[in-house]
Amino acid sequence: MRQIKHFIAGEFTAAASGVRFNKHSPLDNSVICSVSEAGRGEVDAAVSAARNALQGEWGRLSTDQRVELLYGVANEITRRFDDFVEAEMSDTGQPEHVMKHVFIPRGAANFKVFADVIKNVASESFQTDTPDGRGALNYTTRRPKGVIGVVCPWNAPFMLMTWKVGPALACGNTVVVKPSEESPHTATLLGEVMNTVGIPKGVYNVVHGFGPDSAGEFVTRHPLVDAITFTGETRTGTAIMKAAAEGMRDVSFELGGKNAGIVFADADFEAAVESFSRSVFLNTGQVCLGTERVYVERPIFERFVQALKARAEAVKYGRPDDRHANYCPLINHEHRDIVLSYYRKAVEEGATVVTGGGVPQMPSDLAAGAWVQPTIWTGLPESATVVQQEIFGPCCHISPFDSEDDVVAKANATDYGLSTTIWTSNLARAHGMGGRIDVGISWINSWFLRDLRTPFGGSKQSGIGREGGVHSLEFYTQTRKRFA
Ligand code: NAD
Repeated sequence: MRQIKHFIAGEFTAAASGVRFNKHSPLDNSVICSVSEAGRGEVDAAVSAARNALQGEWGRLSTDQRVELLYGVANEITRRFDDFVEAEMSDTGQPEHVMKHVFIPRGAANFKVFADVIKNVASESFQTDTPDGRGALNYTTRRPKGVIGVVCPWNAPFMLMTWKVGPALACGNTVVVKPSEESPHTATLLGEVMNTVGIPKGVYNVVHGFGPDSAGEFVTRHPLVDAITFTGETRTGTAIMKAAAEGMRDVSFELGGKNAGIVFADADFEAAVESFSRSVFLNTGQVCLGTERVYVERPIFERFVQALKARAEAVKYGRPDDRHANYCPLINHEHRDIVLSYYRKAVEEGATVVTGGGVPQMPSDLAAGAWVQPTIWTGLPESATVVQQEIFGPCCHISPFDSEDDVVAKANATDYGLSTTIWTSNLARAHGMGGRIDVGISWINSWFLRDLRTPFGGSKQSGIGREGGVHSLEFYTQTRKRFA
């Protein structure tokens, strides 16, 4: 069985205590690897390595040299593309085509994009008037913030981790990464890439383990970690924010969502159905930007419900590398129990189950996996549990709406504010609506399109701060002002 170790100061090491945990396959619940769990000692060692690296060769590199190294990282990921695909697929059970076309290429791109940003972005300067008439030059420079704690989820592990590690390193910081206990592989593999490319020891460190009273908490409470970037549940973000308050450490948070999708009667019907079949069911709904609340203008409501039902019933269950399959299991049984508890709650609260609501019959080799049916409900009030709470599963509630004001009010009636997708052929309306919904990202007649140069983040309880392009520099650097 594969043994997964920490990556500290350029070396793969196991915990001195010998404590390990098993990672199970989502597909069939078999044990796929044994992972070393970091205690305080390993986290201390990783943070010290990261601090020392700031003072060493890494801290002395020119921007050009750093940029070259990060291009090297991206190229080496591409050279080892199949290893990354295999590692991510075995952890998450998600379809190979999603790995190959989105998650792994985006992981490599995260190093190139932020290398380009740091190379090309200018700093601010003003000519300031002074009473003696000579004037002064007032300018800023950017300095790395220091050691960044990076805490990541399991749903798109490599893409989401490199989204933070790429800009952190481009800005000259060092990192201690705590991947999710459910997806230890690709962060570890990236350690091999760092060594091959010649990234100095201690710049990139990985410690494995869980959250509370484990590696996650030890990293985020560590006094020598200067700032924390986190993607995960809002509840976890709250705990991390409390930890970061000690020592006044900065945070950047990408958190949960309960995203609304809106379809007007004048929308391109087929394109909308096709898009919602992805935004609701892609990766079994384990996508933070996915749609769990769908609002459809009344004249096309019934037709839309039936069309999405047909898509839900047409998904093809199977292994990630099965070319005929497009639908994967949930990450584990614990998460499936949570999703199924929401399925039961919807029925208790009076939902009409349009399709799904349970566990599919699977062939014997996959029967022990965390499979769950894609599910659609109608008929619930806005106050219903499954309309209010993030489920992170392959399900949505569909409601009819009658006016723009009505649907805007419903879309905004949530504590979350991550994203929305609006479908209409009336572009003036679409742009107007996009501005009225309190979210970080509004898609118009599209979903999941991203340009890494633009800001990404959520409003309300979906996040703090924006990352992407030059916006990442706000978090990963500190500006210093000088007068001359
Ligand atoms: P999670 O919050 O349970 O775990 C995320 C990470 O935090 C894991 O590494 C975990 O070990 C660690 N952790 C847990 N408790 C901790 C603590 N007290 N202190 C320090 N670390 C702790 O999230 P998850 O289940 O892995 O991911 C799913 C969630 O992530 C969903 O809510 C989803 O919406 C969200 N998400 C958001 C975005 C975004 O960009 N906004 C992207 C992907 C996922």
